[in-house]
Amino acid sequence: MSTALTSGRRNAVERLRALFVAGRSKPFVPRGSHAPRCPDCRVLFSHCLCSLRPQVTTQAGICLIMCDNEPLKPSNTGWLIADVVNDTAAFGWSRTAVEPALLTLLADPQWQPYLVFPGEFAAAPRVVTELQPLCGKKPLFVLLDATWSEARKMFRKSPYLDHLPVLSLQPEQLSRYRLRRSARAEHLCTSEVAAVCLAMAGEPHAAETLEVYLDVFSNHYLNSRQSVAPDLEDAAHQRLRGLALLVPGNHANTPLDPGSSPG
Ligand SMILES: [Zn+2]
Repeated sequence: MSTALTSGRRNAVERLRALFVAGRSKPFVPRGSHAPRCPDCRVLFSHCLCSLRPQVTTQAGICLIMCDNEPLKPSNTGWLIADVVNDTAAFGWSRTAVEPALLTLLADPQWQPYLVFPGEFAAAPRVVTELQPLCGKKPLFVLLDATWSEARKMFRKSPYLDHLPVLSLQPEQLSRYRLRRSARAEHLCTSEVAAVCLAMAGEPHAAETLEVYLDVFSNHYLNSRQSVAPDLEDAAHQRLRGLALLVPGNHANTPLDPGSSPG
């Protein structure tokens, strides 16, 4: 189960979600409100943020390896990465099999893959804390999109990742992610990890856009659960609009992919 980088109109996680849905015998019912959700941003229609979605072009790529139901969860933040960062690929994870397309991507000479994971869980020679000289290659950040305990299992039981350098992040701030509790507060959510990676790769605008988009998404998502209207003039919304103006031809209020079809 996989989606390739920048193929098709739906983002990589949307396409992966469609494959998951097609392969399930029972429909996935997210917890919380059963009111209809926008199929594109996953938030209740009353709080849809599709018109605010930014998109950035980056040199770096993101490769999401997603556990079980992650693409189906309304609170999943890997989806936000695929929304914002053009070069995002998404694959489903299985303990017993690996997608050939994932192996092809990891072996593609245009990319230098890094498996982003805490260094304390890897053998010391694999661990790096900075990007290596790339010799014409572009960094590809491989993120395990899962709960923390699932991610550790994925890390241990994915031998096809064992040859990759492990990029160990040193996050300076605690997660601001409020949608899901983590067992350890210092863990960043997936889109925050991607933002840190993009900043390391010398892409500060993309990093900040992704970070602010998470704030805007969180605002809409959390307010929808409390039946409070989103504040379109709060600091995050204003910052997102300002970031869009920094890129010629990129307007946060313009639908980026008007031809995309939901579901
Ligand atoms: Zn929407």
